[in-house]
Order: sequence, then structure tokens, then C-alpha cells
Amino acid sequence: MENDETLSRDLSLVIPVYNEEESLPKLVEEIHAALDPTGLDYEMVFVDDGSRDGSFAILEKLYKEDNRVVVVSFRRNFGQTAGFKAGFSQAKGRVVVTLDADGQNPPADIPKLVAKLDDGYDVVNGWRENRQDGLLLRKVPSKIANNLIARSTGVRLRDRGCSLRAFRHYVLDDLKLYGEMHRFIPELVNNAGFTMAEVPVSHRAREAGTSKYGI
Ligand code: UDP
Ligand code: MG
Repeated sequence: MENDETLSRDLSLVIPVYNEEESLPKLVEEIHAALDPTGLDYEMVFVDDGSRDGSFAILEKLYKEDNRVVVVSFRRNFGQTAGFKAGFSQAKGRVVVTLDADGQNPPADIPKLVAKLDDGYDVVNGWRENRQDGLLLRKVPSKIANNLIARSTGVRLRDRGCSLRAFRHYVLDDLKLYGEMHRFIPELVNNAGFTMAEVPVSHRAREAGTSKYGI
């Protein structure tokens, strides 16, 4: 429902956070730099996925300073899928954008994804043209998985693992997320009959903290 009255914002960012204390301050700065000039009424929904570092303290401080900040806090680490799910349930935006908390998805690309939705798509996926992750442990396995999944599901995307995505809010109600299903968001979207586009986005190497995933 486009004009659902419970959706009081233009845009919600949903950001799962697991031990990202060193990356959060710069991320928030970059979000403001990217979105304040757009005039969009946006909020940042952070989901602290049981961090054991100072992430929650940083989020709590942000929450107190800024009424555009929403914080969900998990008692323990549940994983990124649960993070997206909890974030979606809090999101008040007619458009919802997901991204990583570690700064690998530059917030400067967000307006481009939102603009592509306006071309008439339900979901826009980021495509990391220059993915900055390890070749052997991450990029090669991911390419093999991508081909297998594309062949078995018929959903062809250049990049199915990029966290940076934009959704019309109504799409989220039809995504049944559990386990590690965030890896199959494009398939869930496609199965539910929504239209999808892909736009090139930039990708940076992690500057701080460590990746939570291996091969
Ligand atoms: N993350 C999370 N819970 C987890 C693992 C990761 O919330 O159990 C978050 C993490 O903080 C980051 C995003 O999900 O914001 C992607 O994780 P990561 O950067 O480790 O993955 P990679 O970029 O290496 O694929
Ligand atoms: Mg990362």
C-alpha cells in the first residue's frame, strides 16, 4: 500500500550492526552528507545484533541526539537475517534501504537506488562493480554460487549478495525472512512477483573491524 498512513517517512535505512564500533561514527556522518541535501524525510534504523564491543553505547548516544535514529537491540547474536527482519518491522519509510554498518556500502549511492525505484521498480539491487573483498575466499565462491542459483531459480542478477538494496515498503510484508534467508532476498522478491532492477554501486574494503563471514 503506497499511501499507508502508518508510513510517516519518505525513507528508512535498515542497518544490521555486529561489533562495528569503529565504523559507526563515519557511517552516520556519510549518511547525513548523502541524504540531507536530498530533502528526504529519512530515519536510520540500527539493529544491534548482540554486539560485544561498544556499538550499542554509540547507538544509544546517537538515539539521544537525533530523533531520526531508531535502535533495536538483540540480547545475543542472531545473524544478519534476523537483523533485517527486526529492522523492517520498525521501518516507517515508504521506501526502505538496507546497507552494511561497516562502511563497505557507501551511503552516497543511496539516492541513486531510490531514483531507480521511481522508474517503476519494486526493488533495486546494488551491483558491486568493483567488489572489494578477497578473491579466493569470497569473490570466486560467490561467483560459483551465483551461477548455480541463477540456473536453478531463473533469477539472473550480476550481484545477489550486495546488502545495499532499496525496497518499496509493501514488498517487505511478502518477504518471509528466517534462518540465513537474507542470502535469497532476490529469489523471495522474484517469487512474490515483484519487479527488480540492478544498478552499479561502489564498494569499499573494510577499514575497521572484521568480516563476520568466510567462504
Ligand atoms: N552482521 C550482523 N550480524 C551478524 C553478522 C554480520 O548484523 O551476525 C552485520 C555486520 O555488522 C555488517 C553486515 O552485517 O554490518 C555485513 O557483515 P560483514 O561485513 O561481516 O560481511 P561481509 O561484508 O564481509 O560479507
Ligand atoms: Mg562487510
